[in-house]
Amino acid sequence: MTLNELTQIFDTFNFGLVVLDRDIKIQYWNRWMAMHSGTPSDQMVGEPLFDFFPHLSTPSFNKNCKAVLSFGNFAFFSQKLHRFLFPFKPDSSFGYRFDLMQQSCTMGPLRSEDNSITGLFLIVQDVTELATYEQKLVEMNTKDALTGIYNRRFLESRLQEECNRQQRHFRQLSLIMIDIDFFKKVNDTYGHQCGDLVLQSVAAKAAAVIRSTDFIARYGGEEFCCLLPETPADAAETVAEHIRAHIEEMENNFEGISVKVTISLGISSFAAEDTPETLLKRADDALYQAKHSGRNRFIRL
Ligand code: GH3
Ligand code: MG
Ligand code: MG
Repeated sequence: MTLNELTQIFDTFNFGLVVLDRDIKIQYWNRWMAMHSGTPSDQMVGEPLFDFFPHLSTPSFNKNCKAVLSFGNFAFFSQKLHRFLFPFKPDSSFGYRFDLMQQSCTMGPLRSEDNSITGLFLIVQDVTELATYEQKLVEMNTKDALTGIYNRRFLESRLQEECNRQQRHFRQLSLIMIDIDFFKKVNDTYGHQCGDLVLQSVAAKAAAVIRSTDFIARYGGEEFCCLLPETPADAAETVAEHIRAHIEEMENNFEGISVKVTISLGISSFAAEDTPETLLKRADDALYQAKHSGRNRFIRL
């Protein structure tokens, strides 16, 4: 088979194929690469790859090229680690979460008849669709659909991890359980749509108040739970009061009506012998006391 015939096949591939010589100059640039880079093959061939893609000239990429050229190794650039090598636009932006095409790339040696390595090839695969599905799946498993904050399953697994860490390193850890006061009344008075809006605003406000290292999850219907790593009891009280005050002030605009709610909070802080269950139970008991001593307040147990 002649090179011309092979080229005809390579140009129909639904992935990128690049051949580089030992000086990392482009020897071959298939139609897929030309289409996505916007630069035709005749302008690329003979040119140094790094002139067009200077961001690729990293110690890690150069080390991989060297290993391929010196030892005949193969190198794999996974999407999970690198996201992409070539900054191309995705084929379709519909439903994709990425501004740039996600790629998995493989690099391998090219040998001449005397077995010496004359260059390397690079295969570029578009995995944007797969990466999008993967991201959506992770989100569906960890996030609550209505509020966008974490779900109970995620919180419980994080709580287990934090408690394990706690037992090893004796760090501070606190938990805040939140329940909206008289929420049934909101639904009964203004309807479920309004209730949903209030749930979304309460979640967003509480998420905005806590630190980026804290976690907030929707624990049940109108119950939320905040996990505060590295946070002693007194600091957790400050956080709880901060959330409580912000929610009390918040106006939820539903079809021109201002709907206001308050929350009750229960706090527990990790003590020796605590497990995720005992920590949750104490926060829940504290919440119960906050409810029964007048609501719109926090109690710590
Ligand atoms: P308390 O102050 O004692 O907490 O009173 P409450 O009315 O908030 O408590 P209760 O547990 O009786 O009511 C909770 C209500 O939350 C009942 C349920 O209809 C409502 N709810 C649960 N999940 C959702 C949801 O996803 N959307 C809406 N709109 N309402 C929900
Ligand atoms: Mg409740
Ligand atoms: Mg309630």
